[in-house]
Amino acid sequence: MARKRRAGETPRPTSKVTGSQAARTDVTTAPRKAAAGRPPATVDNPTRPRDPQYLGSLAGEVALRKFATAERDRMRRQIYDQVLMTSRSLDGPNFTKVSVGDLSRMIRLYDDLFFGGKVLKAAEAEGLSFQLSSRMTSVGGKLVTQYPSGSVDGPRKFELVLSSTLLFQTFEDVSRSIEVAGCLCRNRLEAMQRVAEHEFVHLTEMLIWNDGNCNEARFQSIAGRYFGHTDYQHNLITQRERAAVKFNIRVGDNVAFAHDGHNLRGRVNRITRRATVLVPNPKGQRFSDGHRYVKYYVPLEALKKC
Ligand SMILES: [Zn+2]
Repeated sequence: MARKRRAGETPRPTSKVTGSQAARTDVTTAPRKAAAGRPPATVDNPTRPRDPQYLGSLAGEVALRKFATAERDRMRRQIYDQVLMTSRSLDGPNFTKVSVGDLSRMIRLYDDLFFGGKVLKAAEAEGLSFQLSSRMTSVGGKLVTQYPSGSVDGPRKFELVLSSTLLFQTFEDVSRSIEVAGCLCRNRLEAMQRVAEHEFVHLTEMLIWNDGNCNEARFQSIAGRYFGHTDYQHNLITQRERAAVKFNIRVGDNVAFAHDGHNLRGRVNRITRRATVLVPNPKGQRFSDGHRYVKYYVPLEALKKC
């Protein structure tokens, strides 16, 4: 799930968050028909990965089903309560620890309540794993589909990843309204749920159609009918925003910091988890401006503007 551009930011080319490894040649809108001669699987129980009959039936359901606001809100709240209650890591709605188990339990609850348990059953028949990433500093979540044989018609493996860094930075020290997928979030757990819902729709689309994109109509129709999403981006708080709001530091600023007992001065070149500061040094690497610098990765709180 991509981050929403804020006013004044220069547009960057949109990258495909899901299916980035997938070739875009498969544009079929429905799963392939079962090959003649293969034993049909029962609709409720996929006996083999990528079972056309099972996925065809699921496609029919996903294409039409709509949840009323009250029912959706009740089920989301049930998931919220249950994830909090059963977790050993989550210490509250604005948790300071979260585990992969929390994410997988949350996704399973979504599957049970919204999809009758049908999505994970089929995804797990192919291969499904969950991950929390501290390195994703702009993207809120992603669904990676891998094709180990190199063919988009071959076996697949799905990985659903959420950015723990973005969740932890939000509802921390910069306060403004937080929206994920067009829904206002009141705490970290609600934000996590909204990102998980978005990635769950990606998983469903990839599973059934082996293709999908959250800026296209089919994704947005599913995300709207199931989860009431009105947007496909988030405005979770990035380190770059924290740097500007809390430390008044921006890319291009001259800064000072202590390193091994020395006071160094340089310029902020990039802000991800830490700031990349370029310090002029004749022994350093030559940069595009013709000067030589040494790169330092400095925590924001260690920088002083000068
Ligand atoms: Zn997306």
